[in-house]
Amino acid sequence: MAGRHALRDTLLVTPKTKVRLDRIDPSDSHGHDRESAGLELAAGLERLSDLQDRLWAQANRSVLVVLQGIDAAGKDGTIRHVMGAFNPQGCSVTSFKVPTPIELAHDYLWRVHQRTPAKGEIGIFNRSHYEDVLVVRVHDLVPKSVWSKRYDQINEFEQRLADSGTTIVKFFLWISREEQRERFQARYDDPRKHWKFSMGDLDERARWDDYVAAFEAVLSRTSTPWAPWYVIPANRNWFRNLAVADILADTIDDLNPSYPAPREPLPEGLVIE
Ligand code: AMP
Ligand code: MG
Repeated sequence: MAGRHALRDTLLVTPKTKVRLDRIDPSDSHGHDRESAGLELAAGLERLSDLQDRLWAQANRSVLVVLQGIDAAGKDGTIRHVMGAFNPQGCSVTSFKVPTPIELAHDYLWRVHQRTPAKGEIGIFNRSHYEDVLVVRVHDLVPKSVWSKRYDQINEFEQRLADSGTTIVKFFLWISREEQRERFQARYDDPRKHWKFSMGDLDERARWDDYVAAFEAVLSRTSTPWAPWYVIPANRNWFRNLAVADILADTIDDLNPSYPAPREPLPEGLVIE
């Protein structure tokens, strides 16, 4: 199909390049339009279902999807809309919260490594080890001398996973400050969304520029050939969903997962009665 790899190429963060988020339009839909988005998404989800079935059957490699974004960027919505394509058997979602005392008593990758997908599985991280250079950096939760070493540590950790058969793909959902304001307001106004809103979100919002700088450092320093970042313009949910589905499907497609042959030769013409 013409242009199938276009979004993957366009939205990739080329390793070792400096990312400036103010140069990326969070409302860009890269030539896609809302009218055909439904069909495009459906096609992407169908590809994903088929690919996951093969990956699960073959059970020799795993896929790790990392989702990051500022509050209200749409991490939960992406999981609901895109990962709904997967058979829940063979797929796991981990949402990383404020570390527990036990987690804090270990190194920061301890809780993450326990949740990486096993062979045949697709693991989805809603937030991830990147919080340890995002919220931790913005709030000075550990000294700079500690967090500044983590970019290289994370690259090495991800390389180790990749070397043992885990394909890693990382999505940064990029919304504008105004879009976040509208989404927070909607959470505040809608009783069905109150549970998502907390006053603390406003304190985080006040640190917008610090978060942008922290995300820029992440994208500039940790997009690697073995664990690339994609910046997804996420002001429009329909584009966000189709871009994530498309890039993820292309990524798994490259693995060419295929149904294994039977464990023992099947007798010809067997009729099972
Ligand atoms: P939510 O994703 O809205 O459920 O919120 C989870 C909260 O956990 C966010 O405020 C994150 O910043 C916070 N969080 C996740 N990982 C860490 C971490 N390693 N250190 C501190 N806070 C974290
Ligand atoms: Mg939240």
